[in-house]
Formats: sequence, structure tokens, C-alpha cells
Amino acid sequence: MNFVIAGNGIAAITAARTIVAANLETRIEIYTDEPHPYYLRPALIRFLAGGLELADLYVYPPAWYRSKGITVHLATAVTELDAAARRLTLDNGEEVSYDRLLLAVGSSPFEPALEGMEQQGVFTLRTIDDALAIKSHAERCLANDQRDAVVIGGGLLGLECANALATLGLDVTVLQHGPWPLHKQIDEQGAGVLEELLGRLGVRCLSNVVPEAILSDGGAAGVQLEDGRRVKGHLILCSAGVRSNTDLPRAAGLAVDHGVLVDSEMRTSVDHVYAAGDVAEYDGEMWCIIPAAVDQARVAAANMVNPGSATYHGTVPSTTLKVVGADLTSIGLINAPDEGYHELRRSDPDAGVYQKLVLQDGHIVGAILLGARERVPAVSRLIKEGTDVSAYADHLLDDAFDPAEALR
Ligand SMILES: Cc1cc2nc3c(=O)[nH]c(=O)nc-3n(C[C@H](O)[C@H](O)[C@H](O)COP(=O)(O)OP(=O)(O)OC[C@H]3O[C@@H](n4cnc5c(N)ncnc54)[C@H](O)[C@@H]3O)c2cc1C
Repeated sequence: MNFVIAGNGIAAITAARTIVAANLETRIEIYTDEPHPYYLRPALIRFLAGGLELADLYVYPPAWYRSKGITVHLATAVTELDAAARRLTLDNGEEVSYDRLLLAVGSSPFEPALEGMEQQGVFTLRTIDDALAIKSHAERCLANDQRDAVVIGGGLLGLECANALATLGLDVTVLQHGPWPLHKQIDEQGAGVLEELLGRLGVRCLSNVVPEAILSDGGAAGVQLEDGRRVKGHLILCSAGVRSNTDLPRAAGLAVDHGVLVDSEMRTSVDHVYAAGDVAEYDGEMWCIIPAAVDQARVAAANMVNPGSATYHGTVPSTTLKVVGADLTSIGLINAPDEGYHELRRSDPDAGVYQKLVLQDGHIVGAILLGARERVPAVSRLIKEGTDVSAYADHLLDDAFDPAEALR
């Protein structure tokens, strides 16, 4: 059996590891358009902030791939898929046959159509090469005493990038379209505590603003807002979400909506081709987070090896803002949708703490935990395992109460 994987992110490597664990004595061929071996994208933030060297990013040494029978073809894009002939074409002109194919080609940053986006000094962050380019531009800005930077987008990635740029010594403004940053992860009251913490770290947030154009003084010089204001910045980082890389599967005739449509076995609409990770759309949902990529890749690989052996039913979204001094984890529902739900809150702005639990019928169905990292593992398990916490009623957020007690 000949297993081929297009893409080399976490979905690809998780699938490859799952296939290897099946002990089939088969070879696995991975094709990636990037020139770098597998790395974890979240580590790019620490790399950008100067906390990791390039070599630290690579997860496995070359010997690991050899020992597992995995061959990774770097800087080799898949340009065509002929599903009827079970054949791929590569950008070097070669053709490759497969018995089972996994599409794990991920997603790319969405670039808003702003005037001036093509200028020097405007970036998105997805790859090692992006991070290298941002770092060297930041160093040039600092050397020229141009300290202002702008991040467009106040999502998780935008705030983590903003904090990394502040760590390098830049004064960062985050432009946020919605009423507060991270509005999918935190409610309005919690956002007040979060913005205060970010301000202490050198990150200023401007909410309810719409960028209109990138200003220029030969390179990027700032952002013109629709309300007439101008925000200065010689480094502009756009973090406005991602779009799945669907060109290849679409051209091959696979069913595609926002992502490649997959069933609960992660099968696409054509035989012997599976999809997982940011490129896949299951039941109308696109998660575009690592836990979903891992869950989906395991199911896809199990079925590539042994059809019908595993099923996927979605992923409970759980996200963490990795900013030292402002760590926030959000799980499941962050707002009670109707009166059938009940909310518990505890806020201590001076200590940088905001906690909220959303409960339904005595079960926790969602949580916001800001500055309460020690509670995250137990609360995550209580949600995942559907534990009945009604015996602990309203003191679940008391300082003296350890949520792990409810697990016993
Ligand atoms: C800086 C950063 C930080 C993040 N932090 C978090 C986090 O903390 N938590 C979290 O859950 N998620 C995080 N994410 C999102 C997470 O990284 C993605 O959900 C995850 O990488 C998706 O994995 P994937 O394998 O599906 O796709 P990707 O990681 O996008 O990998 C796909 C690979 O396929 C390659 N490729 C594309 N087209 C082709 C082609 N035609 N031929 C060959 N190769 C191709 C791409 O270049 C890429 O290398 C972060 C993302 C970024 C950019």
C-alpha cells in the first residue's frame, strides 16, 4: 500500500505517525511546498519574540523520519491531482501514484483588500519564512528608531503577534473590527481585564475600527482608518483570519465549499482521497485549530489503513492565548445562549483575573479562564467528561475550591 500525503503540517505528521503505528511495513511519502522540515506553527510566536532559535523549531531530526519509513520531499508543491488515475503532479514535473492520499494542505492568511497592502513592511505570519522576514524588518525599524507597529486583527494570533513585537521593543497598536479583542473567546467584562493586562505589556487595542488603506512614506508608514484617524506604524502585521487552500482539490473536481467536504471518516467526495486539518470542512464546520487537525488526522489515517475503523464527530473548541502575564483559555460556550443556562462569574481586575463558567443542567458547558491557568486542566476535563457538578453548586469559582475535587 502506497500512502502519499500532500502538506507537512500537524495534520500530515499526525496522520503519518498513525499510519506508522499500524506496522504495515509501508513507505509514506510527504510533499510540502515549504523548504523546512515539520515545525509547530505556535512556536513561530516565540521565535519571532527572540525566545527560540531557528533550529529549535524543527520537531524531529532527519533520523526520526528514516527510522519511521517517512520520506519528506521539501520545497516540492503538488500542482495537480488526477483522482481517477490516482496520480499527483509535482511542481518539478514529476508524477507520483498513490493508493491512499491525504490532503493536509492547510490554510493561508486572508489578506484584506486594502490599498497599499503590497508595500514593503506589510506582513502576514504563517510560515518560518514569514517570521524571518518580519524579524529582520523589525530589526531595521528599531535601528532607524521607527518604533511604531500595527497589528490588523485582534484575534488570538493577532494578540500573540502583538505581544511578540512588543517584546522586541516595538510600540504596538492592535486594530480590532469588533467591539473588543478576542470577542469569540471572552465576553465584554473579561475583555476589560484583558485589555488592561495587554496595556501593561505595551500592547494598545483600538476596537470598533475599520482599516481603509496602508499609508506610505516609501514603505508602510501606518494605517488610515475609515473614521479619518491615522495610526502610525512602519511594520504592519495583518492577522485577519485564514482561508483553506482549496485550489488544488477544487481543480481536481472534489466537492469543496469553504473547505474540502469530508464525511465522518474524513473521506472526500472521491475514492481513496481523504482530507484533514485546516483544509477540511466537516458538517459545515471549519475549526482551523490544532486539536481539530489532530483529531481529524488520526481518524483519516485510521481509515486510510483500515476503512471504516474510525469516525469523527467534531471537536470542542478550546483555545489559549499564549501571552505571559495575560493567559486566557476559552472552552466551549462562553455566553449562555438562553435562560436554560446559568453563568458563574468572578472578576478581580487588579490581580488580572476573570473567570466565568457556563452551566446547563448541572454540567459545565463552557468556560473563560483569564489569569487562572491552574484551573484549566480540571475545568477542561469536567467539560469534556460531562461531569455533573451540581453538588458543588455556586462555589465552583471560590478561591478555596479546587475544581479537580469534582473529578474525584
Ligand atoms: C503563528 C501561528 C500560531 C498558531 N497558534 C495556534 C495555537 O496556539 N493553537 C492552535 O490550536 N492553533 C494555532 N494555530 C493554527 C494552527 O497552526 C493550524 O490550525 C494548524 O497548523 C493546521 O494544521 P494543518 O496541518 O491542517 O495545516 P498547515 O499547518 O497549514 O500545514 C499545511 C502545509 O501544507 C503546505 N501546502 C499547501 N499547499 C501545498 C501544495 N499544493 N503542495 C504541497 N504542500 C502544500 C503548506 O505550505 C503547509 O506547510 C496557529 C497558527 C499560526 C500561523
